Amino acid sequence: MTAQFPPPVAADIALEADEFIALRRQLHTQPELAYKEEKTSALVAERLQAWGYEVTRNVGVTGVVGTLRNGAGGKSLGIRADMDALPIEEATGLSYASATPGVMHACGHDGHTAILLAAAKHLAQTRAFSGTLRLIFQPAEENGGGAHAMIKDGLLERFPVDAIFGLHNWPGVPVGQFGFLAGPAMASVDLAIIRIVGKGGHGAKPQQAVDPVVAAASLVLALQTVVSRHVDPLEAVVVTVGSIHGGIAPNVIPDSVELQLTIRTFDVSVRESVRQRIIELAQAQAASYGARAEVSYRRGYPVLQNHAAETDFARQVALRHFGPERIHQGLRPITASEDFAYFLTERPGSYLFIGNGDSADLHNPHYDFNDAILADAARYWVALVQDYLSDNNEPAK
Ligand code: ZN
Repeated sequence: MTAQFPPPVAADIALEADEFIALRRQLHTQPELAYKEEKTSALVAERLQAWGYEVTRNVGVTGVVGTLRNGAGGKSLGIRADMDALPIEEATGLSYASATPGVMHACGHDGHTAILLAAAKHLAQTRAFSGTLRLIFQPAEENGGGAHAMIKDGLLERFPVDAIFGLHNWPGVPVGQFGFLAGPAMASVDLAIIRIVGKGGHGAKPQQAVDPVVAAASLVLALQTVVSRHVDPLEAVVVTVGSIHGGIAPNVIPDSVELQLTIRTFDVSVRESVRQRIIELAQAQAASYGARAEVSYRRGYPVLQNHAAETDFARQVALRHFGPERIHQGLRPITASEDFAYFLTERPGSYLFIGNGDSADLHNPHYDFNDAILADAARYWVALVQDYLSDNNEPAK
């Protein structure tokens, strides 16, 4: 039996897709790292201005906000795209590959920016919405917390929004499929730097030294019990020791060894409990070898918590405009992190995913954003704006 849905309508939204595919490739050729998105933000600002948006630049260093008001609607809606690239040497060999050595759009933020610009142009030309639209072009998603920087710069007071949405392309999900996940959808990320301090000495006279290498080796194994023995088995946590450095010669016991850990969780209290456990283990393990541990624990992006009502709204938009066959069913929480999480701790909203098809993975030197998804992703934003900022969708007071 088949559920009855109205015919898809977003496909009727006429977009000048070729223009924005060309623009996406231009952005791909000129990638810029976190807080250095000068050319990118200038291009975004210039386009938005030309289409009639009120544009504010340098919100959170290189961030851009475009505001467009229409009709008498009292609601305001924020949509965010990220603009930054990664310190990766591109290996795609594409005709529009990065012209900047060692910098690459390997996460598709060139695509996200082009998608939102394509929607921006259409929305400005058709003005089929009622309320205030705020398009937020964010710097430094990959590294540096550009979302946090924009919020600290007064984004949400200067440009109030009732709800905020963002999207990310997702390799491995079929082209054009939309994915929605209410609740914790992406992990928090913390960094721990642990220095085990012993006492160096001659490799042949260990009795005169306090060997930090042995203490560090023991700590690596003990850290495996954080997930296996400390947290609830039904909670998802990752503790990875990604770096361990100490010593320079086989016959010298070094003074110290440094470990660097990445820690991912999906719950605020689990995050705190894991932090405490890692610090306790580092100190106790070091002490049991006569060494000591210096722990620097740095909090990164919080858990990305999609709000239930806004996530349901976002899914309904996809259902209504694209049909049920375009909803990806297999989406599970993602252990990667995303600084859109900061917006969602301040305002209701949802972060959604659109399939990038069978491409190389994100942050891979062979990755490329799939231009085949650009038009539908832009149509989706147009549909979401029109549905959210409609006179029938006034806030319940
Ligand atoms: Zn990304």
